[in-house]
Amino acid sequence: MKLYNTLTHKKESFKPIHKNWVGLYTCGPTVYNYAHIGNLRTYIFQDILRRTLEYGGYKVKHVMNITDVEDKIIRDAARAGKTIFAFTKTYMKAFKDDLKMLNIEPAWKFPKATGHIKEMITLIQTLLKKKIAYVADGSVYFSIHKFKSYGRLSGLKKRMLKVGVRIEADEYTKDNVQDFVLWKGAKPGEPSWPAPFGKGRPGWHIECSAMAMKYLGKSFDLHTAAVDLIFPHHENEIAQSQGATGKLFVKYWLHGEYLLVDGAKMSKSLGNVFTIRDIEARGFDALAFRYLVLGAQYRSKLNFTWEALGGSEKTLEKLYAFVRELKSEKRKAKSEKQLHRYQKEFQKAIDDDLNTPQALAVMWKVVHDYNKNPLSFNPRSVLALLYDFDRVFGLGLKNLKNEKIPQAVLDLLAVREMHRKNKEWAKADKVRDEISDFGFVIEDTSKGSKLHKR
Ligand code: AMP
Ligand code: ZN
Repeated sequence: MKLYNTLTHKKESFKPIHKNWVGLYTCGPTVYNYAHIGNLRTYIFQDILRRTLEYGGYKVKHVMNITDVEDKIIRDAARAGKTIFAFTKTYMKAFKDDLKMLNIEPAWKFPKATGHIKEMITLIQTLLKKKIAYVADGSVYFSIHKFKSYGRLSGLKKRMLKVGVRIEADEYTKDNVQDFVLWKGAKPGEPSWPAPFGKGRPGWHIECSAMAMKYLGKSFDLHTAAVDLIFPHHENEIAQSQGATGKLFVKYWLHGEYLLVDGAKMSKSLGNVFTIRDIEARGFDALAFRYLVLGAQYRSKLNFTWEALGGSEKTLEKLYAFVRELKSEKRKAKSEKQLHRYQKEFQKAIDDDLNTPQALAVMWKVVHDYNKNPLSFNPRSVLALLYDFDRVFGLGLKNLKNEKIPQAVLDLLAVREMHRKNKEWAKADKVRDEISDFGFVIEDTSKGSKLHKR
């Protein structure tokens, strides 16, 4: 399996550190609002990565943090007149619901920042002892010039480092390559915890280092997010972790590209966000969004439009209709066509840096070849092959419910058939419109008319 490593700027063969398991850490949500579909694109990419590893036979220990104390949370909880705990609870629950709607496998651990303050304090103490961190104005900062390879992941030039200058904000750009905050001194009205270096609360970056190493060890295999977290977040995670342990923190860094709207990054600050709830409110299936995401390799930008989502839903429905048809087929082929060449092609596609568009193309090739010559296939084997592919795609093929068609619609269909037989086309079209009002579309095939839910 080959994966593009941001650290080395190359596609590399994946070789896990441990024999029996793979460690995967994915930066999770800051729970001050609903996740938007840009965030969800990244969580789908991570889910595909995890499923591909599992498909390849690896046991994956997947950790995803939940940031439940942070500047924006404190600001918005205060506005809502709630404690941060009561405030974040709603969005934590919503986030888990989003994952379920999108068939994203839950992580092995979802550690919360507020539950790991002790681990963060210990890590900060180690950095202070090694003099890589220092206390200033009641807060603790990481001294970037003390960590030699600072900037390697994001390709910073040494001259960009502003030595001895400090930044307190968790999010900043490369214009501010400064000593970053590990621990923020307590402020009135803000939540805080006692620590040997003074009362306060953790900065954002330290939580991922502390929680990743707690569950996955000092060195582990894979760490991912979208490209916006390369700098400063991941750069700082490397500095904190390797500064403390002296060991390589992560072997492979993977970064997904953005979901865009009208060419701009979808982000809460730009106000161009949609949630998965918005998608469902407009009558789309959440899995149509998953399908849309699979249609682009994770390192390409993907522009979101409602038309594209509609197209994905139609394509997905075609796939579902095909699966239903296979399920209802009772016959067995006399001589069965060999299916492993499709399986091999599929494996090759996903092993090539998770090339999901190519993997989908292989699946559609199966559908196409079957439809061209169904008698040379055993429907049950084709179904098993599609289920096998779906272990990676996660489109819910195994759990498809039979479409329930109301009796009134079946009656209308019979009436339409009658009009068609009598060549009364205008009347037949009128009945088709009535059927459409029930949310069903008619597909006229050589074997007769079929109904599908729109
Ligand atoms: P946040 O809650 O902002 O920390 O983001 C959660 C995850 O979503 C991180 O992995 C981000 O890199 C990712 N992300 C944020 N915006 C986008 C976007 N427009 N497209 C894809 N991923 C994004
Ligand atoms: Zn993180």
